[in-house]
Amino acid sequence: MNAESAEVVVIGGGIIGLSIAYYAAKQGMDVIVVERGELAGGTSSKCDGNILAIDKDPGFDSQMSLKSQELVAEWARELGEEFEYRAPGSILVCETEEEMLAAENWVIRQREAGLPFRMLDQKDLRSEWPALAEDLPGGLECATDSTVNPVLLAYSLASAARRYGARLRNHMPVTAILLDAKRRIRGVETAAGTIHTRTVINAAGVWSKHIGQMVGLDIPIEPRKGHILVASRWESIGKRKVMEFGYLMSKFGGKRSVEPKFEQYGIALVFEPTASQNFLIGSSRQFAGMDARVDQEVIQLIAERAIRFFPVLKQVPLLRTYAGLRPWTPDHLPIVSAVDEIPGFYVAAGHEGDGISLAAVTGKVMSEMLKGVPTCIPVDPLRYDRFRREAGRQEVVF
Ligand SMILES: Cc1cc2nc3c(=O)[nH]c(=O)nc-3n(C[C@H](O)[C@H](O)[C@H](O)COP(=O)(O)OP(=O)(O)OC[C@H]3O[C@@H](n4cnc5c(N)ncnc54)[C@H](O)[C@@H]3O)c2cc1C
Repeated sequence: MNAESAEVVVIGGGIIGLSIAYYAAKQGMDVIVVERGELAGGTSSKCDGNILAIDKDPGFDSQMSLKSQELVAEWARELGEEFEYRAPGSILVCETEEEMLAAENWVIRQREAGLPFRMLDQKDLRSEWPALAEDLPGGLECATDSTVNPVLLAYSLASAARRYGARLRNHMPVTAILLDAKRRIRGVETAAGTIHTRTVINAAGVWSKHIGQMVGLDIPIEPRKGHILVASRWESIGKRKVMEFGYLMSKFGGKRSVEPKFEQYGIALVFEPTASQNFLIGSSRQFAGMDARVDQEVIQLIAERAIRFFPVLKQVPLLRTYAGLRPWTPDHLPIVSAVDEIPGFYVAAGHEGDGISLAAVTGKVMSEMLKGVPTCIPVDPLRYDRFRREAGRQEVVF
């Protein structure tokens, strides 16, 4: 068995672990990423690639997303590999007048927080999106939203982190975390031997709960399953992301006026044209444990919902389907934090449906915390111990 050492060991080679590795290595830290399967083989390859502010709670959540959007634009210039970055903005469409009122309220609150939001009327929708169903009354736009190919981005980060000296180890599951008598981090045990370190970052997404159990923590992250349909190339239906306003309600647990069959699986339209004009169509939200198998009933319902908004999709061939597990926390914010009772142990997980959006800001903040320098956003709302202070779910107002 080998024994090696590193200043920082990151557990998990998903988009979050790779972003941390990139920023930490760039700052001169000696980093090893330990991934039990392939890099980006977890949720980071079972998702869409949206870097969104449009679906964030106005305030800290949306400010954090704006910061991440800025950092991803920097990545597009500095990583040196193409990851299909585009920043065309995105829109939410409303199905009813009641949703239009809620959307107006959402836009007012986002604009007050300084974000570039605006309402769209039926004419605006029709002129940009002739393929949208004619009865939709309008929607709203966030002008800064961007999109990436999340797998290409993960591999671009991996290459850049390697160039700064990070060591990336795949097919190497962490089996135990070693503590000394004062419960300080001493190292990690992997299938290929021990890695000695004083700093471990748990970036294992939905598996971070299991990693937490290795040091006696009960990390409040649960898998929230989501499905995606990949439709064939077709004539251009639109160039940017469209979601239905009800997506926000599904995400934050609000009440929608849709048929129970859609509500049962949290189904709301998410339509993303990729760089090569395939369409990624989603999405669903379910608490179904760690079972990530595709459920044909959910696929059928997502297709039905998508055709309600884009009738033309009825003709577009379906190429494949997949499902992934979002790492959900009770207050919809990730945990990006030290754990005070275990010196040297950090958590960077729980990004639910926002891990691609928030990877950049998470990696930057975590590297700043490791260096002990001021962070680029306030980190108090992301603390691990907040769940002890304020038990219960945060209500998002529409
Ligand atoms: C259908 C769907 C659509 C989505 N769309 C978007 C979107 O458009 N925009 C957005 O921002 N987010 C989106 N998300 C959410 C996003 O995909 C996740 O938040 C993000 O991928 C989480 O990244 P991660 O690095 O934390 O986790 P992961 O990518 O799951 O990485 C964790 C890694 O830890 C590894 N691991 C686990 N246990 C061990 C161990 N013992 N030892 C070593 N390694 C271990 C795993 O193998 C895995 O590779 C979507 C998610 C889904 C399911």
